Amino acid sequence: MTLSYLAKTAALLAIWIGTLAAQAAQPLAKADVEAALNAAYTKYKDLSEGANADYIPALAKVDSAIYGIALVTPQGDIYTAGDVSSEVSIQSISKVFTLALVMDEQGPEAIFNNMGVDATGQVFNSIVAIEQHKGAEMNPLVNAGAITATSMVSGDSRAQIWNKILNYYNAFAGRELSVNKEVFESEAATNQRNQAIAELMYAYGHIKSNPDQATDIYTEQCSVNVNVRDLAIMAATLADGGRNPVTKKQVMKNENVSEVLAVMATAGLYDDSGKWLYLTGLPAKSGVGGGIIAVSPGRFGIAVISPPLDAAGNSVRAQKAIADISNALGGNPYAVEPAM
Ligand code: GLU
Repeated sequence: MTLSYLAKTAALLAIWIGTLAAQAAQPLAKADVEAALNAAYTKYKDLSEGANADYIPALAKVDSAIYGIALVTPQGDIYTAGDVSSEVSIQSISKVFTLALVMDEQGPEAIFNNMGVDATGQVFNSIVAIEQHKGAEMNPLVNAGAITATSMVSGDSRAQIWNKILNYYNAFAGRELSVNKEVFESEAATNQRNQAIAELMYAYGHIKSNPDQATDIYTEQCSVNVNVRDLAIMAATLADGGRNPVTKKQVMKNENVSEVLAVMATAGLYDDSGKWLYLTGLPAKSGVGGGIIAVSPGRFGIAVISPPLDAAGNSVRAQKAIADISNALGGNPYAVEPAM
């Protein structure tokens, strides 16, 4: 290999890296974002597919007409369309942030070793998936892995653990969140299946002690109320490497963000996670309260709330609106142009 060949290769590499850096640094244009949000809002406003979750009785009573969209950029710009003030319970979206907390406390290998980071191929609250590999070979976004992750948050008392979790969520949202008591009580009265899941994870040694407490705290974390703006800021914090772009605070360790996003890409939308990734390329997480967050790393965090769900448990409007908006704004991280 000649020296001039090496020099030429180095120069080309530098240009290529420069192009990538320029692409990554390009902020979204205000008019484009507003147009994309308004178009998606209008397009799906009158859609009437899907139904509220009802296996948690309080969720069946939530207003099905709530429909809001929010997008937040790493520069801290907030764009919204529709209902930005109505709150719904965060439900499974909370799993992402408890996962991040455990990683921050114990490192990503603690999650990897205790429950794994693979899709189960089963429903989110599957008992079969636990039995198949004795509680391993799953991930922290299905109930067994999520309740186990909650059990891994350190603290001397229930109150201390709970306050730590809620404060961590608050830092992502940039404000003090509160618990929807009605949803918490409703789920606590009907969550026998989650109690069984926690007992099994305890029996197989993944939950080290007090499975009842882990289930109870998990149920409370799922009952935290959020509006669509909160969710978009939480998503944007992941999009901006763990720094809340609105409060400008680094709220999680930067080195753990890529692992959290990878788990979201693998298992964020229940049994339709593969289909979702195929259509959008975005790490995302949905909850049975009707919210979905999605992250375009370095570009934006987006959220939609609309309670009616499809058969897989994902908000119908949220999936459609996020996919349209992201595709209009070039949010798919896998969609790149040839460098030269
Ligand atoms: N709290 C709910 C449960 O454990 C969360 C479900 C979800 O949003 O996927 O069933």
